[in-house]
Amino acid sequence: MEIRQFQRLRWYLRLFNLLLIAGLILLIVFNCHPMPWWLITLISVIGLMILLTGRVWCGYACPVGLLLDLLTALFKKLKVRQIKRSEKFNRSIRIFKYFFFVFYFVLHFWIGFDPGWILVFLLVVTAPFIVRFWCSFCPCGLLFGWLNAISPLKLEKDSTKCLSCGACSKLCPMQSKRISIQKTNGAVYSAECMMCGECIGKCPAAGAIKLTVFGKPLTESKRLK
Ligand code: SF4
Ligand code: SF4
Ligand code: SF4
Repeated sequence: MEIRQFQRLRWYLRLFNLLLIAGLILLIVFNCHPMPWWLITLISVIGLMILLTGRVWCGYACPVGLLLDLLTALFKKLKVRQIKRSEKFNRSIRIFKYFFFVFYFVLHFWIGFDPGWILVFLLVVTAPFIVRFWCSFCPCGLLFGWLNAISPLKLEKDSTKCLSCGACSKLCPMQSKRISIQKTNGAVYSAECMMCGECIGKCPAAGAIKLTVFGKPLTESKRLK
């Protein structure tokens, strides 16, 4: 499949998943006292699917991720200047997010204080200027990232075809460095990667990056003219 077709398909899937999630929320709201067994089973199956696909949730279904991408697109159209994160800043975030993770859960479950204001700040205030900034801290994203290794959807690299231009990492919405620095062939394991395929569309080397599902290729990079 051509990368452009794949990207279009991903947007359709995201909108479809948004409707599914809205439907599920309505089902839960109207059936919560007591919750019927079929609804508990449905929620468990969906939860299991999310767990087994790692950060695919972030790239294909999360409503917050969709909202952030729509805001970014809107502000780009309005010519609002995006802040480029430096590599030093990204490295600090990768360490700091673990502290934030512990802090969030201690506040939420131990002290009983909902740290929603932090979420709103990171989500709303940064959205116009920094692509997917909240996703660098999101506790769910962090958990899903650990499960990327078992996901059937994988980003793969053929290092023999790579031109080492770095375009993939520079334009990655999750600021994943792994894709450009990996020197071996095969799956790219990154806890940040949401398998969105944005890097494939930006890669100038034919066949250097591809997305596979259960080892079968879905789409791959083509030589850019
Ligand atoms: S990191 Fe969190 S907010 Fe961002 S897409 Fe993933 S689950 Fe959604
Ligand atoms: S590395 Fe590629 S597939 Fe993964 S999040 Fe970044 S742009 Fe998307
Ligand atoms: S964009 Fe393609 S050619 Fe450039 S570093 Fe990434 S994988 Fe290599």
